Amino acid sequence: MTANPIANPPDPAPDPGRPALLVGHGYDLHRLEPLAPEGPGRPFVLGSVRIDHDRGPVAHSDGDALLHAVTDALLGAIAAPDIGQLFPDTDPRHDAQDSREFLSEAVRRVAAAGYRPVNLDATVICERPKLGPHKAAMRAALAALLGLPEARVNIKGKTHERVDAVGEGRAIEVHCVVLLERSGS
Ligand SMILES: [Zn+2]
Repeated sequence: MTANPIANPPDPAPDPGRPALLVGHGYDLHRLEPLAPEGPGRPFVLGSVRIDHDRGPVAHSDGDALLHAVTDALLGAIAAPDIGQLFPDTDPRHDAQDSREFLSEAVRRVAAAGYRPVNLDATVICERPKLGPHKAAMRAALAALLGLPEARVNIKGKTHERVDAVGEGRAIEVHCVVLLERSGS
């Protein structure tokens, strides 16, 4: 995939005075709608794991809210442009895009800035589907994408107690934080 050239200048040389640790925060929300042909929902994918559900995210890309939040946390930690700036939803190349490509570009930028991930902690909030049976697969997939052992990747699932759009099953929300450490000199 070619990233947006305007938001994609050559990587700057790592700052020799850069701090030993950086923290990044990511957040994402997608509306959940009935799947085609009844509605505009895409197949439900979370943490790159496909989950059977009668609703799915409305999105330009594949709508993987967990990967989007993690991507923004990585980009945020190195003060890079965010996912919406790097991969604008007006660009037809990103239609139904596999979000693992967004995350891979963020991982590449983190390395170019002279850092590597230490750990990730994410909270997924959705009423349905139940995430418990899928957490191990999501954790394994995220660990592989980040180049981390699974013990440094945590995914927590919560409901929204039937309150508001998330609690009514009409949206999914993800919060996460990631820690980076300086690599090399
Ligand atoms: Zn998103």
